[in-house]
Amino acid sequence: MIVADASIVRQKLELVRERIAVAAQRAGRSADEVKLVAVSKLQPFYAIEEAYAAGQRDFGENRLEELWQKVELANEHGLDEIRWHMIGSIQSRKTPQVIGPFVLVHSVDREKIADRLDRDAGNAGRMLDVLLEVNVSGEASKHGFTPEALRNAAGRLVALPNLRIHGLMTMAPIAEDAEEVRPVFRSLRTLRDEMAQEHSLGDWTELSMGMTQDFEVAVEEGATIVRVGSAIFGPRPCQL
Ligand SMILES: *Cc1c(COP(=O)(O)O)cnc(C)c1O
Repeated sequence: MIVADASIVRQKLELVRERIAVAAQRAGRSADEVKLVAVSKLQPFYAIEEAYAAGQRDFGENRLEELWQKVELANEHGLDEIRWHMIGSIQSRKTPQVIGPFVLVHSVDREKIADRLDRDAGNAGRMLDVLLEVNVSGEASKHGFTPEALRNAAGRLVALPNLRIHGLMTMAPIAEDAEEVRPVFRSLRTLRDEMAQEHSLGDWTELSMGMTQDFEVAVEEGATIVRVGSAIFGPRPCQL
């Protein structure tokens, strides 16, 4: 089995931070404008501990069961400052489980999920911070609002009383050359600008885009959050 090694996680994390900084500089941006979410899905808990020891605080998970197990382990091990991000598709019957642990839910991918999260957050007496996931490329296998569906729904979604919309998220198609997906990131930014203009009730500052294969291009195109897994932890080794 391939396991994450302490010093290797630290080194890879530093390298990713450096690559973000260089990409930001190329685009005339400051590295401080880009938050790195370390995607720890399917990684053992000690990989999270190593990244935490190297100063990482934002972690992304995509399955609720795994997330809750890791939340418990983090509490037991005193990793008090972790900020958990939900990046995976949410089944509608599981929306109550999303309320509580997450600092940001990136993957609100349809109206039904937004409505249920709003209801569940309300029941819990909480506000939930979310991004709307957009399927920019139109691939059938991808989750998310089509740009058209987003335009139709946004006015209603920004008015939901218990959700705070902070921007948009997308996953680019897999490509051999990251340059190929630049138009996808650019489209998401354009769409975000349009939303900000049309729906001032929302916040629309965040653009969550870019993964291991393409995060530098995403930063050049305005990403405020990149979600990077394998470049930090290596291949995903296990089912927890
Ligand atoms: C797994 C995943 C990532 C990270 O993928 P890597 O290629 O390992 O960097 C980012 N975003 C989402 C939504 C994911 O599911």
